Amino acid sequence: MKIGVLALQGDFDAHRRRLEELGAEVVLVKKPEQLNDLDGLIIPGGESGTFLKLLGEDGFAKLRDFVLAKPTFGTCAGCILLAAEVENPKQAGLGALDITVRRNAYGRQIDSSIREGLFLNSPIEMVFIRAPKIERVGEGVEVIATEGKDESPVLVRKGKTLAATFHPELSDDPRIHQYFLELVAKL
Ligand code: GLN
Repeated sequence: MKIGVLALQGDFDAHRRRLEELGAEVVLVKKPEQLNDLDGLIIPGGESGTFLKLLGEDGFAKLRDFVLAKPTFGTCAGCILLAAEVENPKQAGLGALDITVRRNAYGRQIDSSIREGLFLNSPIEMVFIRAPKIERVGEGVEVIATEGKDESPVLVRKGKTLAATFHPELSDDPRIHQYFLELVAKL
């Protein structure tokens, strides 16, 4: 299985390592042409505004074609990029998932934190870094993992598209990447 990791910026290398540990062949994607013949893609954390700048209009259009056609997993800034609607401030999203995402939603005081959430009803460690919040989940979007007393959605999926507001690549637990690879294998 050939999985790309968008490697323009951010913590792409931790995803590469995790995917390789799980037996996938990894391509670090720096040019749009490298999207050809991938089975799936991870868009890592970083700064979503910077991603947009680095992609440019052409890169954005090519990435949108890919995410609308093939399995993609976005983490944190990657989740923001995949969304249909982005707030705080408003910015363009690829529209692969009908969700509204609020950037930097936890405020300065809790810039980053490690918390325990529920993934498919099992406890799992979640690393949040200047994390967004998924404020609206559209029809047909499944909530796969939640966090906190209010059971906020932190990992959502529709069909071939998966998005997390946390960083599964920074925990030792491989279950979330495994879940994505199983999804790629099934489609
Ligand atoms: N705060 C970043 C953004 O708004 C996301 C942070 C992250 O990816 N760790 O794009």
